[in-house]
Formats: sequence, structure tokens, C-alpha cells
Amino acid sequence: MAFTVSVLGATGSIGRSTTDLLAQHADRFRVGAVVGGRDAQALAKLAREMKAEFAALADESAGPALAEALAGSGIPNGAGESAVLEAVARDADIVVAAVSGAAGLKPTHAALRLGRTVALANKESLVCAGEAFMRDAKRYGATLLPVDSEHNALAQALGHGPVSDVAKMTITASGGPFRTWTRERIAAATAAEAAAHPTWSMGMKINIDSASLMNKGLELIEAHHLFGLGHDRLDAIVHPQSIVHGLVYWLDGAVTAGLAMPDMRVPIAHCLGLGERLTIARGRPLDLAAAGSLTFEPVDEDRFPCLRIARAALHDGGAAPTVMNAANEIAVAAFIRGEIAFYGIADLVERTCEHFSGIHRTAPEDVDAALAIDAEARAWSAQALPRLRAA
Ligand code: NDP
Ligand code: MG
Repeated sequence: MAFTVSVLGATGSIGRSTTDLLAQHADRFRVGAVVGGRDAQALAKLAREMKAEFAALADESAGPALAEALAGSGIPNGAGESAVLEAVARDADIVVAAVSGAAGLKPTHAALRLGRTVALANKESLVCAGEAFMRDAKRYGATLLPVDSEHNALAQALGHGPVSDVAKMTITASGGPFRTWTRERIAAATAAEAAAHPTWSMGMKINIDSASLMNKGLELIEAHHLFGLGHDRLDAIVHPQSIVHGLVYWLDGAVTAGLAMPDMRVPIAHCLGLGERLTIARGRPLDLAAAGSLTFEPVDEDRFPCLRIARAALHDGGAAPTVMNAANEIAVAAFIRGEIAFYGIADLVERTCEHFSGIHRTAPEDVDAALAIDAEARAWSAQALPRLRAA
């Protein structure tokens, strides 16, 4: 029996790893819809290669280019929000939600409302609207499978064990390219330096978040929603080799951990397998003897203030993570454009969180409420940017 898999964010880093696996197991999978943002040529090429049943771009103005690039292929296609929702609504056994950023909320939530099995890479869905996503997954009978490597490792290490038997969960961080840098050197870092991730190959935004450790902060919030643990039972440690991804500490002192080579195809394959294990061609098996030593160290929140800010947002709850994520997206984009320095990211995010702390207290009730807070926080942090540049 063939499983139909739709991929949202198909042309991105996670999307490519997913379609690589789907192509390797072509006898097992059929490609349903593929969805991209604005790159018509890339999406059309992928749709043809994968013989997708439907292709959609979020950017409506790229519609004619997509239609032209798919002319003669027989693959129906469209552009704009309605086309993306049409793509999500097509029949699929698994929907891989791998759009980047807050743009992923609506399509991911639409899949969940249809009661689909959603392989979730878009961590922003849980960071911005975690309460609503978890509530609606339950309400509509959807299944959320964590693609993020740490959460996938935690899910595997947890097995069927009840969360009430868990003392705490720990996720690991590679430490990023600045792990050994001094604060002064990090302060002067360029976007190219921040994007040079030592162990993982990923999209630009998440690379910068890995350098600032904001990614780990987003992941603590993601873990809170996925596993239902409070902030006091979740933490992060630095593990430069990126082989141990998540650890479950049980009440009796036993610890189970999820290990794998740093290759996103491993957690994606775990999700796509739906309980069966898929082989990965051209994957490097984990060789612990060759790895030699696995090392761990605490996170230095003085050099990496974004983790401290994210832990505070997790602690405060309510709309704090939504605001934080929006400000971080504005700040990272400004850093990539060379408009602010590296620590300007943490600075802008912290100022935005402080500004909104008395304004939005409760967690967004639904996706629309989350997106409204997101838009407000983006607007505020964008207008605060020039002051930061002048400082
Ligand atoms: P990329 O930037 O590489 O890819 C993003 C994808 O989303 C592209 O296909 C892009 O298309 C598409 N896209 C952008 N905007 C929209 C939109 N409005 N509607 C629909 N599609 C859109 O990101 P990654 O693959 O790195 O990350 C995807 C998600 O997975 C993120 O949430 C990230 O945090 C998470 N994640 C990623 C990991 C990784 O290793 N990369 C690890 C764990 C989680 P286009 O290029 O045409 O704009
Ligand atoms: Mg991760």
C-alpha cells in the first residue's frame, strides 16, 4: 500500500530532506501536494521530479510563473492562500509541515483541523500558538509527530513511558559557530559567520537562531507543548558533537536518550515510517568508536542571552512566546541585512517582550489571535529598529 505524503515548504531544507526520502522509497510513498513560498522554478522542478499531484505557491504574484513552468506536465497548480489551503485539503496520509516561520501556522493548523497525521517541523506553530495547536489536535483527532531532531529523540526515548514518571527532559545544543568565541568577538560577528553551522545543514533563519541559541529557546517551548512538561522540568545543555539529541531523566534515576548522526533525514524517516523503520540511502551510520568522545557543557547565558530570554518567555507563558518569536524574526532579518549587530537580536527581542509584557497576558485562543499578536509585535519591533541601529 502506498502512503500519500504532502509537503508544505517542499523546496526548503527540511522539504528537500523529505523528498529525498520519498524518492528513495518510491514504492511506499506517493507525493500528494507540494507547497512553496515564492520560488516558482524550484517548486515546478520538484513537482515534476516527484510527480506530485498538486503544486501551490503562497505568493499569489508567482502564480503565472508557476503555471508556465508546469505547462504540459499535467500537474494542477495554483498560487495564493486559497491554493495553499486547497493543497492542504487534498487527501494525504501524512502532511509534512516544513514552512519556515510564522507563515507556517495557517497551513499547519489547516492540516490539523482535517485530522491529519502531521509531521511537524514548523516549531513556530507551537511557539506562537501552542495551546491552540495542542487543543485542536486533540479536538480534531490529528496526530502530531515531532520532526525537530531533539523532540523526535525525546519521543523515541520516552517510548510509552508516562510523562508523570519523568523527572525532566533535556535537549542538546551544538553550541553553534560561536560556542568558543568571546563575547567581544561574537558582538562583531557577521551574518556569514553566524550562518556557518558546525554540525547541521539547515535554512538561513534557523542557522542564525542556532548561533544565538534562540533556536534552543524555541525548542524548550516546543517541548513544553509536545510533552506537557513545565519549565522547571525542561532544560538544555551544549553538546558540540550533535549525536545525543534528547535525554529523558526518569524518577528512579535512569536516563534514556535518543542518539543519531546529525542528519535531519533520521527524524523525518522516523515520522514517515509510521511505526516502521525506513532505511536511509547515503546516510552515515553512527560510529561511536570513530566519534571518540561525547562532551557536554552548560550553556553560557551571558554570551548567549537569547536562551535566557526564551526561558523567561516559557516561564511567563501566555502571549510572551508569540511576541518573542515575532520580534526574533524581525531581528534576525535585520541582522542578515547587516542593519544590526549580533547582540542587537537579543536586545530587540528583549525590548519587545518588555513592551508587551503588560499588554498581552493570555495565550492566544486560536491561530488568528496568535497571528494578530504576531503582527503587532512585528510592527512594534520594526519601528524600534532604527533606535537600535543608532545606539
Ligand atoms: P527553509 O528556509 O530552508 O525553507 C522554507 C520553506 O518554506 C521553503 O520551501 C519556502 O519556499 C517555504 N515558504 C516560505 N514562506 C512560505 C509561505 N508563506 N507559505 C508556504 N511556504 C513558504 O527552512 P527550513 O527547511 O530550514 O525550516 C523549515 C521549518 O522547519 C522551520 O520552522 C524550522 O524551524 C524547522 N526546522 C528546521 C530544521 C532544519 O534542519 N532545517 C530542523 C528542525 C526544525 P520559498 O523558498 O519558495 O520561499
Ligand atoms: Mg532542533
